[in-house]
Amino acid sequence: MTALDIQYSFIFFLIASYVLQFWLSRRNIKHIATHRGQVPEAFVDKISLESHQKAADYTIARNKFGLLELSFSTILLVIWTLGGGLQYLDDQIRVFNLSPIFTGVAVIIGLGVISGILDIPFSLYKTFVIEEKFGFNRQTIKMYFIDMIKQTIIMLIIGVPFLSFILWLMDDASPYWWLYVWGSWFGFSMLMMWLYPAVIAPIFNKFTPLDEPELKSKISNLLERCGFTSNGVYIMDGSKRSSHGNAYFTGFGNNKRIVFFDTLLNSLQHDEIEAVLAHELGHFKRNHIKKRIATMALMSLGGLALLAWLIDQSFIYEGLGVTQPSYYMALILFMLVTPVISIFLNPLFSLMSRKHEFEADEFAAQNTDANNLITALVKLYEENSNTLTPDPLYSSFYDSHPPAPVRIAHLSR
Ligand SMILES: [Zn+2]
Repeated sequence: MTALDIQYSFIFFLIASYVLQFWLSRRNIKHIATHRGQVPEAFVDKISLESHQKAADYTIARNKFGLLELSFSTILLVIWTLGGGLQYLDDQIRVFNLSPIFTGVAVIIGLGVISGILDIPFSLYKTFVIEEKFGFNRQTIKMYFIDMIKQTIIMLIIGVPFLSFILWLMDDASPYWWLYVWGSWFGFSMLMMWLYPAVIAPIFNKFTPLDEPELKSKISNLLERCGFTSNGVYIMDGSKRSSHGNAYFTGFGNNKRIVFFDTLLNSLQHDEIEAVLAHELGHFKRNHIKKRIATMALMSLGGLALLAWLIDQSFIYEGLGVTQPSYYMALILFMLVTPVISIFLNPLFSLMSRKHEFEADEFAAQNTDANNLITALVKLYEENSNTLTPDPLYSSFYDSHPPAPVRIAHLSR
């Protein structure tokens, strides 16, 4: 293989992934627009035409903007790689004559900062134009930038030492460096998952223990019935930023928590909250979290083994616009280029995720009343303006959750 082969393959995959994503989004927009005039039959008495059309308009607006983002990020990727952007950044930092590890850290931070700044207009538009227009945004510009500063500081405090350690392992030149990197990365991810609910999440939101006697006893009954112990049920002030509602499980081991957005708590009846919680418990009881961690571990092991082989092939760097090979460039190229290829695996991951959603729904139906979950889902899909009529192909490619009609049909069997 030569550098030119790499270059042509990269261009081929880049165009293929762009065309595929563009085509799927166009299909989705068209499909939703076609079904905009009529609430699907099964929902006629549950959802108003007005909500249905709002969901259609909201989804179409986000899809259209997504096309712009996709085009921008594709062009940017070409500039970083074939356009010589990465090499240029590396050259600028090499001038300072830092040690190889710190040069690597500086290049990666530089890349992160530049990408982050370029993303600001897109993220501002999404929050303050699209979300705002459909009445979901609750953030002020000030809050938005305070969040961003906090995130950057946390990233630097946690990320720089870890990144330095990873680059040090790679620099060590042991033939098994990739196994050490994998082990460290995995340990680090687990530590973050464990720390997140108690240490990081509270920096952004307030978590107050659930304190409604009737609901509390309902929930502890359910937890007991399902044999689940947690470190408490918390309410998060999600309404501070957005009126979208959600519920989730976080952490593991002795740091497990159940979190409800205050927005969700306000719109659902107690029986419905119980059913939603039972669904979340289902994810836990059916080992979905363990399966997800195992998949992540295997994928990253495979990825690093591949990287370990690629790192010594100088024609690959050259084919991707980097003239001066280094292990940190290998890491950066790997991170930037794999998504162009791994996007084709998306339907598989979506399928696995939707399978888990069905299993969690089934668990909820066994442990609570399925009808409560159905009414809760209808409310949630309606309040979050999730469309009831996505394009089936688009949905099977991207959706981690089955569309409401499919989910409810399963529950009503
Ligand atoms: Zn779920």
